[in-house]
Amino acid sequence: MTAFIPASAWVEGPSTALATTPLSAGETCDLAIVGGGILGLRAALDAARRGLAVRVVDAALVGDKASGLNGGQVIAGFKYDPDWLIGHFGEKRGEALIQFGSTMPDAVYDLIDRELLKVPHERNGWIQAAHSEVAMHAVEQRAKQWIARGVPAKLLNAEEIARLTGARGYLGGWLDPRGGAIQPLAYTRELARVALEAGARIAENTRIARIAKENADWTLHTVDGRALRAKFVLVATNAYADGLVPGLARTLLPLHSFQIATVPLPSSALASILPEGQVVSDSRRIVTYYRRGPGGRLLLGGRGSTAEPTSARGWAHLEHALKRLFPVLKDVAIEKRWYGKVALTLDHLPHVYEPEPGLVIAAGCQGRGVGLMSALAPSLVDYFVSRDPESIPFPITPIRPIPFHAFRNVGISAAIAWYTLADMLEH
Ligand SMILES: Cc1cc2nc3c(=O)[nH]c(=O)nc-3n(C[C@H](O)[C@H](O)[C@H](O)COP(=O)(O)OP(=O)(O)OC[C@H]3O[C@@H](n4cnc5c(N)ncnc54)[C@H](O)[C@@H]3O)c2cc1C
Repeated sequence: MTAFIPASAWVEGPSTALATTPLSAGETCDLAIVGGGILGLRAALDAARRGLAVRVVDAALVGDKASGLNGGQVIAGFKYDPDWLIGHFGEKRGEALIQFGSTMPDAVYDLIDRELLKVPHERNGWIQAAHSEVAMHAVEQRAKQWIARGVPAKLLNAEEIARLTGARGYLGGWLDPRGGAIQPLAYTRELARVALEAGARIAENTRIARIAKENADWTLHTVDGRALRAKFVLVATNAYADGLVPGLARTLLPLHSFQIATVPLPSSALASILPEGQVVSDSRRIVTYYRRGPGGRLLLGGRGSTAEPTSARGWAHLEHALKRLFPVLKDVAIEKRWYGKVALTLDHLPHVYEPEPGLVIAAGCQGRGVGLMSALAPSLVDYFVSRDPESIPFPITPIRPIPFHAFRNVGISAAIAWYTLADMLEH
C-alpha cells in the first residue's frame, strides 16, 4: 500500500523561484530571523529596506508550513470585540489594538498592490455566519461595535446569508468588507522574493537548535553545527515552535487545522455557492471555514485530530460538514486534503515576548495570522531599530508556560469534544 501524502490546493499554480542560499560557517548579520513564514519574511523585507543585514533561517522550504498552507482568508480584528479590548487593555492600548486589528487586511492588500506581488487575490469581504441564537446575538453586537467605529459592515438575516453563501442552516451573520481572500502560498513565496530583492538572505532546510548570548551578540547554532552571529534575533516560528526558546512551545496549544478542496465545480453549482466571492468562517467554537479556491473548487477547513492523519479518513468529518452545508455537493469528489498547525493561546490573544534584550518572539495567531503577522512584522522591525516598546501594538509580556502542558493533546481532544457538543446543543 502506498503511503498517503496530503497535498494542498495551492501547489497547482505557478511558484515563484527563490534564490535562497545555504548558511555558511561563521556568518554574521544584524538581524537573524528564525522562521520563514509570513512574519519572518515580512519582517525581513522591512529590515532589509531599513539597511539591516538580514538572515532568515527556516527548517523547511519557504511556504511549506502554515503560511503556505492556510485558507487564505484575510480577516480584520481579533477574537475579541472593540469594547472588550478597551475594557481589558484600557483606553490607550485598547484603541491602538482596535486600530491595528482593523487595518490588518490593509497590510496584506496594500503590500500586494505596492510591491506588485503576483498573488491571486480578491477583497469582497469576510462573512461570519451564526449557527445559533446565542451566536447571532454575539455577531449583532460585534457588527454594531464596528459600525459605530465607521466600518461599513452589514448585518445579514437568514435569507441574506443563505443567498451569499449558498449554505444551509444559518440564522444570519455579518459581512465585514475589510476582509477577503488571497492565495497564501503565492503570497508567502512572493514575500520571500521581495525580501531577497531588498537584500535579505534566506536559508532553507536549516533548523536552529540553540540560541546563545555571547558578549553583546547572539549566536544561533544549527542542528548540524553551523553558527550564525547576530545583533538581534526574531523568533518567528509560531505554531511550529520547538524547544529553541525555553518555555515558548509551552505557551501555545498547537491545534491541527485540516482542509479539503473539491474538484472544480460545475457552473450550475457555482451560481449559488459564494456567488459574490466572500470568504466565510462560522461562529462555532470549533470553527468551520470555507471559500472558493483555484479553478472553481470549493475549499473547506476545520478542526483536525491531534494525531498525524495517515489516510483520507482523517478528513471525513470535513466531508460531512461540506455535505451538511451544501447538500447540492453530496456526490462531489474531494481532490485535495491537507493540514497544518495553528497556534492558540489560553487568552486567545497573540503575544510578543522578549525574554532577553534583543531576542524578540511573536506567536499565537489564533488562526488569523495572514493579516495579523503581515501587520505586526513592520512594528517589530520598528522596535528593533527604535527600542521603543510603543512601536508594538501588543504589550511585551513574560513567557508563561501553560500549566500541565505535557497533557495538552488529551486536553485539546477533550476540549474539541466538549466544544463540538456545546456547538451542537446551543440554540
Ligand atoms: C490549515 C490552516 C489554515 C489556516 N487558515 C488561515 C486563514 O484562512 N486565515 C488566517 O489569517 N490564518 C490562517 N491560518 C493561520 C496562519 O496560517 C498562521 O497564523 C500564519 O501563517 C503564521 O505565520 P508565521 O510566519 O508566524 O508562522 P509559520 O508560517 O508557521 O512559519 C513558521 C516557520 O518556522 C519554522 N521553524 C520552526 N522551528 C524552527 C527552527 N528551530 N529553526 C528554523 N526554522 C524553524 C517552520 O519551518 C516554519 O516555516 C491557518 C493555518 C493553518 C495551518
